Amino acid sequence: MEYKSVRGMDDLLPQDAWIWHDLEAKARREFESSGYSEIRTPILEDTSVFVRGIGETTDIVTKEMFTFQDRKERSLTMRPEGTAPIVRAYIEHALLARSPISRLYYIGPMFRAERPQKGRLRQFFQIGAEVIGSNSPFADIEIIAQVDGLMKSFALKDYKIKLNTLGCKADKAKFAKALKDYLADKSSRLCDDCRARMEKNVLRVLDCKNESCKDVVRESPNVIESLCGGCVEHFEKVKSNIESLGIRFEEAKNLVRGLDYYTGTVFEVTHTALGGQDAIGAGGRYDNLVKDMGGADVGAVGYALGIERMIIALIAEGAHPKDGDIIYIATLGDAAKLEGIKIARSIRHGIESDGLVVLTDAGDTSLKSQLRSADKSKARIVILLGEDELKQGKVAIKDMSGKNPQVMVSFGDVVEEVRKALC
Ligand SMILES: [Zn+2]
Ligand SMILES: [Zn+2]
Repeated sequence: MEYKSVRGMDDLLPQDAWIWHDLEAKARREFESSGYSEIRTPILEDTSVFVRGIGETTDIVTKEMFTFQDRKERSLTMRPEGTAPIVRAYIEHALLARSPISRLYYIGPMFRAERPQKGRLRQFFQIGAEVIGSNSPFADIEIIAQVDGLMKSFALKDYKIKLNTLGCKADKAKFAKALKDYLADKSSRLCDDCRARMEKNVLRVLDCKNESCKDVVRESPNVIESLCGGCVEHFEKVKSNIESLGIRFEEAKNLVRGLDYYTGTVFEVTHTALGGQDAIGAGGRYDNLVKDMGGADVGAVGYALGIERMIIALIAEGAHPKDGDIIYIATLGDAAKLEGIKIARSIRHGIESDGLVVLTDAGDTSLKSQLRSADKSKARIVILLGEDELKQGKVAIKDMSGKNPQVMVSFGDVVEEVRKALC
C-alpha cells in the first residue's frame, strides 16, 4: 500500500516553511501592534453553528462542508470559515462584558470539500481579524486600512482592494427584489447554477464567473439605488476616509460575498497572479450575526486572507528567503561533540541575530565530510574542534568568506569572537 495525503490536503514541506513563518510573523506583528488579540477556536463545531451562521442556502453549507456524525450521532462539521465559530465563542464566553469592542485575530486551517485547483484546497489556511461591537464606519476603515497595511508589510505590490456595500438587512432585501425583477425575463441566458440561485440566493448571480451570466448582470440595478439614507452616509464615510488615508481601492458594484451574514460594507483583495479565482482575501460587515446567533445586538466587521493564495502572489512577485548566518561546528570524538553542543548553546543564547543558525554534527562522520556539509549549507563561519583543540581548551574559528584569518580562541571567548566575525 502506498500512502498519500488526503486529496486537496497538502503537506507543508521543510523547504517551503520559511514563507509561512514570514507571513505569520508579519501578520502577528501587525495585529498585536494594533491591539488585536489572538483567538483560537476548535476545528470542529456543531454543524448548526455554520448552518445558522453562514446560511442554509449558501454554497458552503449546501455542498462544501465536511460534516459527519460522531459516535454519539451528533452532527459535527470541520470549520469552513472562521467568523461563525468566533461569534459562537464571543457569545459563549461573554466577551462583550469584558470590553465594548473586541478586536480579535486568528490564523489556522479551514476545510471545504471543493474541487481542488490552483489556490483552492480542501484544507486551506486563513489569517483573519474581526472587530465586534462597533457600528461605526471607522471600524470598517480600521479593518480595510489593516488589510492594506498587511499587504504592505508582506511587500505585495500588485494587489487591488475592491469595495462595495450591500446595505442593511432591509436594503439587502430591497436590492434582492430589484435584481430578481431585472433577471426575471433573462433567466434563459443564465447558467444552471444561477437559475437555481435566482430562487434561493439571487445576489450570488452577480459574482458568477460564467461569461453569459457576467453579460447579463453588466446592466443590472446598482445596489446604491436600494440603500437607505443611513447606509448611503456610512458607505460615503468609509470611501472618503480610506481615500484620505491614501489607500487605493475601486468600487465594484457587483461585488457580493457568498455568505449570508454580510450586510453593509463588503470588500475583496485581488491579485493578478491568481488568474480567474483572483481573490486573496475578502471581508465585510456582519451586523446581524451576533444577534442571530443568540448574542447582543452589536455591529461587527472582519475579513480573512487565504495564506496559500497570498503565497502564490508572493512567489509571483519574486519573494525569496532571507539568508540568515549559518555557523557550523565541526567536531571529532565524543568529548569534542559534547563541547560542540555546549558552544552551540552559548552562541544561540548569547547572540541575537535574525535567522542565525548554529549547526552541530549529529552523525559519526569525518571532519572532512563535516566540512563538506558546512560548505553545502553555505556556512559563514566554521568552528573546528578536534582532539588537539580539545586538549588545549580551544577551538579554531574559520571565516568561510576568507575575509578574516583563521584564529584559535579558548572556549570562553568563542561567543565574543563569533559576534565580531558576524559584524
Ligand atoms: Zn440601510
Ligand atoms: Zn451563472
